[in-house]
Order: sequence, then structure tokens, then C-alpha cells
Amino acid sequence: MIGYLKHINPKTKILFFVLILIMVPCAILSYLGLQSIDQNTENLRTKYGGTINLVRDKLESKIIQLEENLRNNIIESFHKFDSDAELKEWIRNIESDNPAFKHLFLINAGGGLFSTSVSLGCNNMQRSQPILSSQAAANFNSAEKTEFIRKNYVDAMGLYQRALVYAASPQERALLLSRIGRCYFKIGKYEEGILEYRKILELGNDEITIGAAPASIIALSQIADGYGVLKAEEKQYNAIIELYQRLINNPWDLAGGEYLYYLKSAGEKIRSFETSGLNINSTEKKIGELINQENKLLEQIRFIELIYQNVLPEIESNLKLGTSYELQPRHISLIENNSTLQLGYFKLPSALQQSQLIALGYQIDKDYILSNLFPEVLTSVELGSDVFVGILGEKDNLLYSKDNRQVSNYLVAENFSKLFVNWKVALFDRDGRTIEQLVGRERKLYLALLLGIIAVMFIGVFVTIRAVIHELEISRLKSEFVSNVSHELKTPLALIRLFGETLDSGIVTDEKKRREFYSIIRKESERLTHLIDNVLDFSRMDTGVKEYNFEKADLVEVVRSSLEAYKFHIRDNGFEIESSLPDESVMLKIDKDAISQALLNLLSNAVKYSEETKYILVKVSKDSTSALISVTDSGIGIAKEELKKIFDKFYQVPAAKGKERRGSGLGLSLAKHIIEAHGGIIEVVSEVGKGSSFTIRIPLFGI
Ligand code: ADP
Repeated sequence: MIGYLKHINPKTKILFFVLILIMVPCAILSYLGLQSIDQNTENLRTKYGGTINLVRDKLESKIIQLEENLRNNIIESFHKFDSDAELKEWIRNIESDNPAFKHLFLINAGGGLFSTSVSLGCNNMQRSQPILSSQAAANFNSAEKTEFIRKNYVDAMGLYQRALVYAASPQERALLLSRIGRCYFKIGKYEEGILEYRKILELGNDEITIGAAPASIIALSQIADGYGVLKAEEKQYNAIIELYQRLINNPWDLAGGEYLYYLKSAGEKIRSFETSGLNINSTEKKIGELINQENKLLEQIRFIELIYQNVLPEIESNLKLGTSYELQPRHISLIENNSTLQLGYFKLPSALQQSQLIALGYQIDKDYILSNLFPEVLTSVELGSDVFVGILGEKDNLLYSKDNRQVSNYLVAENFSKLFVNWKVALFDRDGRTIEQLVGRERKLYLALLLGIIAVMFIGVFVTIRAVIHELEISRLKSEFVSNVSHELKTPLALIRLFGETLDSGIVTDEKKRREFYSIIRKESERLTHLIDNVLDFSRMDTGVKEYNFEKADLVEVVRSSLEAYKFHIRDNGFEIESSLPDESVMLKIDKDAISQALLNLLSNAVKYSEETKYILVKVSKDSTSALISVTDSGIGIAKEELKKIFDKFYQVPAAKGKERRGSGLGLSLAKHIIEAHGGIIEVVSEVGKGSSFTIRIPLFGI
């Protein structure tokens, strides 16, 4: 094998080494590139991670700063409040000055909550029975016995009225008037009862209570019920509205649940009241407003109750931890209906603690944060046009994104650390790609490059190996050719020498014999000339120096004269040769000698490769585009798989066993070269054992 390698064309070797020299480093580079992508992913993650951390800190510190402002605002404006109304007004003002915070609430030492409109557990309602003067109390006690034990409502009413004479305070009067009204209702005198209840309303003091509810609320709800029994619908409706309005405007402490009970039942009555047929158009708008107010109030109530139940214990225990937390806002987050409720609170400075108020809490308004604060902060952050920031909620749902862009995948995301800890600040690619997708493109590119290089390397190696095999085959054929040609040269030379010497010695005296010997010498020298012509022509063609001498000539004439010259030789070999030539000439631009040589090669093959049937037909014809010369024999024929190869240089079909092969393997390749130089082609049809037909086709208007 190594020996054969030296036959390989140096060009092929160079090609192979260049291939290796270029492709191997390329392959290594793209492999390294592929590896560096992982590093790239990490770098991108770190870079974007750094950016998002900065953004997050900026957003958080902005909220903290607002909290600071709120706290300062509270501490500066906190003062002694003369009434609950004043305190509520103060909270309301703080709320409207600090839109990032809502539901401000104060916590008192007894564990009660106090907000802009409602309080819970602040015990600001007089719950106990009023202390009656002694005469009033005596009458009151026996009136109650008469009412509840003896069930004599008329007498009971009398006793209550007598107590009323001694009642000094509005509180006492309200209690007694409500009892008288109740007794009227019990004996069916509703109008009189209503009148008594109205007297309570005339007392005009919101602080007066009966039991756990304001006296006016109890009176109004009784009046409404009374009108209900009397079927005075319009009056009943008006009483309910007034009741509803008072409830909304003057909520009392939520503890005990009475307030909510009254509010809900008044709300239900208002909503379900059959108003058709009543002249109440003017009040409709007012009711709409009241319902709105009620909804707001209920929201606040829900909030306060939530704080009371879920957060207050934690706040209280933290507050007890001492002064180190004083004034420092602390945070609690709650998940309510799948969304975060972010709360903050701080201990009021002890100098300010009064009315038992010890701490103040608030809810951070996320709507404000998302629609006002974040956009404002983010406009000052320079990120470039490729990326933008968004906020993700509890379930990675997009809460906010710059210009409201909707994208599903983020590059990196970081949880908030102090507030809204379930939220994330995320950095998005403009086209919604992840880092993996961003790098994936590069990865694909490198992979394609690597695969491409490997494919090119394989193709290169394949092509080189084929070229090497081809060259090895050619060099094998060449050495066979040399031995064939030497054999072909030796035979005629030996014959020429033998017959020449015989003639020279003069021993052949018979004229007939001498002629025969001369003829043999001529034939063999012709064979020699033909062979040498072929070899010389081939070497000219192979080196590209063969020149053709094209001139206008009659193809029929060229064929005829070639046949004339060769006929003798053919017939000598025992062949019958037939020709079919057209009468008119076929004028073409051809090299006469070359065409004649190609034809002679075909004829000599027909002779060489025929056995029993020695018949040759030569035909010249013409179709619309070409002139045709065909040489048909009835010889041994050519196997199908050999047909493609017989025109290759040096190629010879292996001879059948026991038969000698003659020739050089150049005849057909020369003929092909010649015909192609004329712009034509050479074709063959053959069947093993039956013969072959070679056709030369030269274009009429070729060169
Ligand atoms: P060679 O000198 O061997 O004849 P050629 O190039 O003329 O070389 O022919 C190539 C091969 O084609 C031959 O070895 C022979 O086997 C086959 N061949 C050519 N002409 C014929 C034919 N007329 N009949 C059968 N075989 C043929």
C-alpha cells in the first residue's frame, strides 16, 4: 500500500493536507465556541442578575422613602385630639396626603383598632344601663316586672311614664321613651308608639345609647317597623333611608357585631324595598350614593376585621419587644384571595402616645405602587432598548410591564426582599426570549458550523480517497498498458524480422511464396504504424498538445477512402464488410485524418472482437441535427456493466479464460476524444454473444 502511495498525484496529497490543516483547526475552534456558550449563559445571567438587583433595590428604596415621609408626616402632625371625629379627620388627611398608603389604622393599648371610619374593640360605646335616679329606678323596676312577668303592657307603660318624670339625663329619657314605645307596639297602638320613638330622635344627641346601639338607631328601626305594620310604605321607606344614612355616617365600634347587624339589615331592606308606585324619584340618586358609601365602609370593615384576627396578635407581641423597634416601620405580608396584602406599622413615639394609642399601621396601596410609583422610578433607569422591566405577582402573573407589553418569558427575576416578598422584579427581553433561547441561537450556529465542517471533512476525505483509488487504478492500468504495448510491438516486429531474414537469405525462390511473405511484412508494419500512431496521439491528447486541423470536407468521402484503405486488411482476416454510404456528400468542418483514425479504431476493434461470424457493416447517414457513422459487428459483444468503462483510457475488458487479450486500451478513448473535439458523441449498443454497434454522431452545424 505504502508503495502505491508514491503513485498518488502530488496535487491530491496537497489537497488532502490542506483539507486537514484548515478543517481540523476550524473543527476545534467551533467545538471550543460551543463550550464557551455555557460560559456565556452564565455571564449573561450574572449581568442581567446584577441589573435586576439594582432595579429591585431602587424600587424598594423608593417605597421605603415614601414610608419615611409618611412616618414623619404622622409624627409632625400628631397632637391631642378632642374627639374621635377629630382623630378620624386627622387620619383621613394623612391618607389623602400619602396616596401610596391606605387603610391607616391606630392600635390602642387595649388591643383595639381605630381607622378613618370604623373602630374595633376600642370600647368607645357606653354599654352599661344608664344609672337611673332612685325614684325613676323604683318605677322602672316595677314597670319591667309588669311588662315581662304580668304582661300588662298598659300598666307597664304607666309605670315607665311615671319614671320618665324623674328622669334627668337624655340617656335616661331615651331608655324610658323606648320602653313606652315598645309597650304601645305590644298593645297594637303603633302610631302612638312611633310618636314616642320620635321623641328619642328629638333628643338629638348621637352619644345617647340604649344597650349596645345608639338610641337614634334603635328608635328609627322601630319607627320603620311600626310604619311597616301600618302599611304606610312611603313613611316606612323614608324611615329606613334615614336609618341607613345614620348607620353609614356614624358607625360605632364593631365589637359585639350590633353595628354590622343593623347595617346589613338596613341595607337589605333598602335594596329589597318595593318602590314601584311610590313617589320617591328624588331619593334614588341619594340611595345609589349611600350604597356606594356602604361598600367602601364594608371594605374598610373587612380590612379592620382581617387585621384584628390575623395580624394584631403579631403586631402586639412585636410592640412589646421594647423600644428598639420604636419608630422603625416593620412589615407583614398577608396573602388574601391569592394576592398580597402588604402591611406596615410602627410604634408611636411615647411622647405622642395619648388616648391609649400606641402604634399606627397601614396598607401599602399596590395599585398606586404599580401604576404610579414603579413607572416613575423605572423611567429614570437606563436599560437599553433590548430589555425592559416588569413586575411578576404571586403566581408569576404579570402585574406591571413597561408600556404594558405582554411577554411570557423573562430573562432573570428576583424576589423583593423587604416588601411584597412574593413579588418578583423581572427583566424581559424585547421579544420575550429567555437567556437559554438567546444563547440557543448562538449554540445552534456553532453546532451547525461544527456539523458543516465535519461534513465537509468527510466529503473531502471521501473525494480524496476516491481520487487516490482512481489514481491507483490508473497507475495499475498504465503498467498493464506498458506490458501490453510491448507485447503488441514485439509480435509484429518478430514476424517482420523472421520473414525479412527469410527473404534476405534467398532461400525462397517461389514467387508466390515471396509475395505472401512481403504481404505479411506489410500487414505487420501497418499494424505497428497503427499502434504507434495511437500511442503517440494518445500521449498528445493526454498532455493537451494534440492539435486538430479542421477543414470543410465531405464525411462520406472520408469514410469511403478509409474503408478503401482498410478493406483489404479486413478481407484478409476473412471478414465480409458491407457499407451503406449516401450518394450525396455530407459537408462538415472536420479533421479528416482524425475522423479516419477514429473510424479505423472502431473497425480494428470489430475485427479484434469477432470470432465465428466475421461480418462488419459500416453506415453513414444524416438526421436533422447530426451526421452519423455506425460500425456494427456480430462479434463477442460487451457486458452491460462494462459499457460505461470501455471509453476510459487504458481500460480493457478482462479477456475470457484461456483467451489472449490484445490491444492497448487506448482505441476507444482516442476515438471518444476525437469525436468530442468535433462537438459530437460516440455511443454504443451491445449484447454479449451477438455483437456491438458503435455510432459516431457529429453535429451538422457544430464547429
Ligand atoms: P483495446 O486496445 O483493448 O481494443 P479499446 O479502447 O479499443 O482498447 O477497447 C476497450 C475495450 O472495449 C476492449 O478491451 C474490448 O474489450 C472492448 N471492445 C471494444 N470494441 C469492441 C467490439 N467491437 N466488440 C467487443 N468488445 C469491444
